[in-house]
Amino acid sequence: MQRPRNPYSSADIDRASHERENEERMIELASSGAARFVPIDTEKNLVSKAGGNPEPIFLQGMMARAVVGSAEEHIFLGYVDGTPYFAVDVSGKDTPLAEMGEFVDLRQFGSLLFAREGSILAYARGMTYWHKRHRYCGVCGASTKVTRAGHVRMCTNENCKTEHFPRTDPAVIMLVHHGDKCLLGRGKQFPKGMHSTLAGFVEPGESFEDAVAREVYEEVKVKVDNVTYRSSQPWPFPASVMIGFHAEAQSLDFEVNLDELASARWMSREELRPENLPQDGSFFMPRRDSIARRLIEEWLGHEAGPSISG
Ligand SMILES: [Zn+2]
Repeated sequence: MQRPRNPYSSADIDRASHERENEERMIELASSGAARFVPIDTEKNLVSKAGGNPEPIFLQGMMARAVVGSAEEHIFLGYVDGTPYFAVDVSGKDTPLAEMGEFVDLRQFGSLLFAREGSILAYARGMTYWHKRHRYCGVCGASTKVTRAGHVRMCTNENCKTEHFPRTDPAVIMLVHHGDKCLLGRGKQFPKGMHSTLAGFVEPGESFEDAVAREVYEEVKVKVDNVTYRSSQPWPFPASVMIGFHAEAQSLDFEVNLDELASARWMSREELRPENLPQDGSFFMPRRDSIARRLIEEWLGHEAGPSISG
């Protein structure tokens, strides 16, 4: 049985990476009437709220040509049902797009989208973010130029010519459990009352499992065993992928590192039953569309996880 995917990841996007090197093909696709362009303005996506729920706006035809002409580059994302999609960064450009809709942070409405639309918008956002921050070569400092349909930036210095690839920073996210209890923490920036799993970035030279053990020990001084992979989620806010685990604590003793967390607490399965949760806002779990929530739900025995599809 195929396990459900997490939001911002969709099986419907064919990245067609083998076509990126074919410049003629890319020009042909980008100039075809079928092409759809995903505009991004300072990491925000264009949506229409005319129908109530936010609807992503994809540009095509005349409007697409006008916008692409004013942008520095466009990036081939791939095909969805045979339709080619491109990302285009319009930050700081004078375009008529504001009349069509509003640029909004994807995290504010991503949970309301179908999986494939959410994935396209997240992918476009992640790619344009990377381009903006890699205009110069990290090796020699010369400017870089776009190649391979926007999936590589090459240094323009003839003696360097280093190729730079889009970066994704791996972060581990883990539900720590012991017997009938799991450990939920409160990050300092969390909305009041929200409790979630622990998480942190993987360091160079470190395996995911080691990163889980290190982060848990750093945050709550708990040693863990049996670190088991569950699922992953692209998180291009701005440039991560979350790798989700369950991890078994060696004991219930813990000590919160206040530099990292505001607080933490063990919660039993019984306490986490919806009817037993406090109704005064002092405790609530992360959103249903988050991998954190899914890790908790799966540990509770709700295998299906949040309602996620293709
Ligand atoms: Zn260089």
